[in-house]
Amino acid sequence: MRLTSIASGSSGNCIYVGSENTHLLIDSGVSGKRIEQGLSSLSVSPEDLSGILVTHEHTDHIQGLGVMARRYHLPVYMTEKTGQCILETQNLGNLDPGLFQYITPEQEFKVGDLAVDAHAIWHDAADPVCYTVRDGDTKASIVTDLGDYSDELVDSLRDCSILFIEANHDQRMLEAGPYPYPLKQRIMGRYGHLSNDSCGTCIRELTGDRLQYVILGHLSKENNFPELAYETVRLSLGGGESSALEHIQLQVAYRDRVSPVAVAR
Ligand SMILES: [Zn+2]
Ligand SMILES: [Zn+2]
Repeated sequence: MRLTSIASGSSGNCIYVGSENTHLLIDSGVSGKRIEQGLSSLSVSPEDLSGILVTHEHTDHIQGLGVMARRYHLPVYMTEKTGQCILETQNLGNLDPGLFQYITPEQEFKVGDLAVDAHAIWHDAADPVCYTVRDGDTKASIVTDLGDYSDELVDSLRDCSILFIEANHDQRMLEAGPYPYPLKQRIMGRYGHLSNDSCGTCIRELTGDRLQYVILGHLSKENNFPELAYETVRLSLGGGESSALEHIQLQVAYRDRVSPVAVAR
């Protein structure tokens, strides 16, 4: 099973996850052209995609959705409330609702040879979810845009080989930064985004034999930078050798280009 970020950050999100025979996108928040280029660097043709999983309706997750779904006639998996919200409020051009496949959190569904689970998360959107994708007993989880996490969510992430998780902001940079107070409150709140510290605490609960890759994503451009996110999480996992990091590759996803590919077996 392979996973890579085509783009990740507050300006646009698109993640590829796939097995030998089934290829999926999680969100399409950058242009169709950038998604096609990203796929081509992975030697995946857009015609070979089996569908797009949408986490929620914020623009940085659906900007290229209309183009990709129309151009390649792709099924779009999401909750019904997210679908309704996209149809009512977003300007994605003529999107055929026949392509919409409504899913229910906590109910596994299959796309090709991959099994997918959605889990509800706390975020200020209609019905946001994160996704876990399984190829046999290899599991990858993609968790972004969440203000907080529950024990149930942590349990759903156990035993994954690849964890893609939000490290949105550094608490102190956000507090001291230029954002207006209400926006700071929103980002820090339970329905906002995960800080570097909270991200590290969450990962600490998940380190185990199976976890091979941890990829930090959805970094804020204004309130974080890659080295700080990396170092904060690294320290919360015990720092150097003989720590939880001994068996884990820790990476930060690039904002504007394709990140290194994580391969788990
Ligand atoms: Zn969002
Ligand atoms: Zn987002």
